[in-house]
Amino acid sequence: MSGHGDVLTLFRRNGRLTRAQVVELSGLSRVTATHRLEGLVRSGLLRPEADDRTTGGRPAAVFDLAEDRGTLLVADIGSSHARYGIADLSGRVLRALDEDITIDDGPDKVLSGVAAAFDELVTGASAPVLGAAIGVPGPVDQRTGLLVSPPTMRGWDGIDVPALVGRHVDAPVVVDKDANLVALGVHRAMRAASVPGADDLLVVKVGMGIGAGIISRGAVLHGARGGAGDLGHIPHDDGPRCRCGQRGCAEASAGAWAIAAHLRELGHDARTSADVVALARHGNADAIEALRSAGRRIGDVVVEAVGVLNPAMVVVGGDLAESGDLLVDGVRERVFERSHPLATTDLEVIASPLGADAGLLGAAQMAADAALSPARVEALVDA
Ligand SMILES: [Zn+2]
Repeated sequence: MSGHGDVLTLFRRNGRLTRAQVVELSGLSRVTATHRLEGLVRSGLLRPEADDRTTGGRPAAVFDLAEDRGTLLVADIGSSHARYGIADLSGRVLRALDEDITIDDGPDKVLSGVAAAFDELVTGASAPVLGAAIGVPGPVDQRTGLLVSPPTMRGWDGIDVPALVGRHVDAPVVVDKDANLVALGVHRAMRAASVPGADDLLVVKVGMGIGAGIISRGAVLHGARGGAGDLGHIPHDDGPRCRCGQRGCAEASAGAWAIAAHLRELGHDARTSADVVALARHGNADAIEALRSAGRRIGDVVVEAVGVLNPAMVVVGGDLAESGDLLVDGVRERVFERSHPLATTDLEVIASPLGADAGLLGAAQMAADAALSPARVEALVDA
């Protein structure tokens, strides 16, 4: 208990700390805490800082995470778009690249795009790559790292993304559902800002598809096989045919692919989330009505999730949420109209504070968790 990794985690959560604060927060003796701090400074993971008073040659009493000791590679892969980035150990994204992709081209093609982007991003980076994380638009079994029956990713069932990307990256590679990474990004940002309720969130990601990530007691809830939060494909009685093959999924009327198809029928030029958002921003009445209506339809499934999970906050993010209040207003309207008062007494329904980078920021946090796991930190200290 309280090895080097645990002490480093205190700095990742709290920022700079004095030796006395480390003793207090870790419960370690002063001697053991000093020993841990020395190991972390020797490995380059902690940076000693001068005390406010002149230290007069005494050992440093203030320390901070050396965020430039390593870099992290991250990718947020959607069904039609991918965003790649390089981040420091604090999870700050230093540089990002965008690419239009087609997820149904399959793992070989899509993951070679990831490898090429990672190669470009590490060129010129001075610190070694210590970890990588990748978000994909489908459920991932966290025990095995394998994709599990993704409803809308043809050719990806059972694919081992960490193993395939691991051929190009000499560091731990982790993978999770895109909406879980958005949820993790939102959670860490809220925790850093001491937002009350940050540990119990339902984060809905609305882009071409619809998914959700659940933060319960401060951790991502995955369920038995990684399928928790798959709100987009809960079928209702009837309704339009979904791209997953079922009828009546929320995604089939409120995902950007469905809204774009509806707008094309009305004579507008729309294919992607960005097209739908652009039409609404230019005041197109059909696009505005479609987004409000989509918000209400998403609200229908959020009502059910709120009844089951009792989150403190529902956060609406994803590309389609870039439309401003239209989508989140529809969700809020339905949730407060139809939920039991027990579930809504202290409930807030808000737009994501992170915007389009939420997935990458969450991936950077997940990569940092893997890169700075207790075992990896011990290895870096012993090296
Ligand atoms: Zn579906």
